[in-house]
Amino acid sequence: MNLLIKNGRLLDPASQTDKTCDILIENGIIKEISSLIITSVSMEVIDASGLVVSPGLIDMHVHLREPGQEHKEDIETGSRAAAHGGFTSIVCMPNTSPVNDNIKVTGRIVNRAKEVGLVNIFPVAAVSKNLESQELTDMAALVENGVKGFSDDGRCVVNDALFKQALQKAKTLQVPIIEHPEDHNISLDGQINEGEISAKFGLKGIPAESEDIIIDRDIRRQEEVGSFLHLTHISTAGAVQLIAGAKKRGIQVTADVTPHHLLLDETFIVKDGKCDSNYKMKPPLRTGKDRQALIEGLKTGIIDCIATDHAPHSTEEKAGEFETAPFGVIGMETAFSVIYDRLVRTGVIDLKRLIELYSTNPAKIFDLQGRGAVKPGFTGDLTLLNLERSFKIRAEDFQSKSSNCPFIGWEGKGVVEYTIVGGKVVYKKSSLPVP
Ligand SMILES: [Zn+2]
Repeated sequence: MNLLIKNGRLLDPASQTDKTCDILIENGIIKEISSLIITSVSMEVIDASGLVVSPGLIDMHVHLREPGQEHKEDIETGSRAAAHGGFTSIVCMPNTSPVNDNIKVTGRIVNRAKEVGLVNIFPVAAVSKNLESQELTDMAALVENGVKGFSDDGRCVVNDALFKQALQKAKTLQVPIIEHPEDHNISLDGQINEGEISAKFGLKGIPAESEDIIIDRDIRRQEEVGSFLHLTHISTAGAVQLIAGAKKRGIQVTADVTPHHLLLDETFIVKDGKCDSNYKMKPPLRTGKDRQALIEGLKTGIIDCIATDHAPHSTEEKAGEFETAPFGVIGMETAFSVIYDRLVRTGVIDLKRLIELYSTNPAKIFDLQGRGAVKPGFTGDLTLLNLERSFKIRAEDFQSKSSNCPFIGWEGKGVVEYTIVGGKVVYKKSSLPVP
């Protein structure tokens, strides 16, 4: 069946388009975009009047937990959560069990993603074997098998010589190195940002320098090698400043930030006089000043993408003592709504910029051919947005296996109405009103 999307407002930053039109998808590929396409019996038709048609959103940093920790999430539930959040493509990090550091694990993920068949899943493989920062993985073989980039995410590539080698290899393979910037010798067993809240609750702090020092090193190495460096989930004012300086000097570096670091600061951790583990993640929520710097970075183009760092953990794991609870929060299902409501509706950024951050730029960084734009010949991956519809975030609506989300209870306007992957509707919001 072919799919015709009628009367939507197409907003595509890549082709500089903002107009009401019809879009025809044939055999999964965008065939025609024009002011009027005549309906035929061989077409399924979506009336997109009043909706914004965006290139399919891309989450460039998620944890799907399969293989090895399927009690938290698996490729199927992670795919459903992505579709629910408007993401047509997701990039999954390699810190599974076993680690995705060889083509066997990569193949397993790629095959399972195909079987599930909901959203596009692009794996990132480990930089170092077993994330140990000792020995490089077989990067060439991994790329041949569908890997889109390399990261030791969850860990930093602490071994400087190895990091440099990884950049050199990535340069020849034309793929990015995605760094989780954390100097583990500084963050040690810190729990939250080092500051007033950590002092008040007697928790070990994670200083901002643990991030800034690695970003400084990475930029220096990148300047020497001239490879493809992407810094993920940056959280400090210092990081924004360092990246701004690097970009000014013409060094190729890109960066992403999470919705939680944009919308929350360390004061949110305290609920009813206690620290709440649904606000515990790495890097930690920082100060209001850091948050403002991140927002400035988003506005000025120093930060290129928003990525959720969707990190599911079971309720039992998160329910224990704050200090033993694992780091991480989920994010795919709330990503569009919270950013649209809090940053676009308030005029901090515009919708076009949001789409750049969530689709155009991630597609460029990972060189996802035929994605991140709406043009004839491109893949029929689209997200249809209803900017007027209200939302209330509730754990019972999540498709993820986990509900460790810091935005539960938030209300606002702006929801994903349809998620379309290769011309197939993989998510449609129910017509029931939000209670
Ligand atoms: Zn990370």
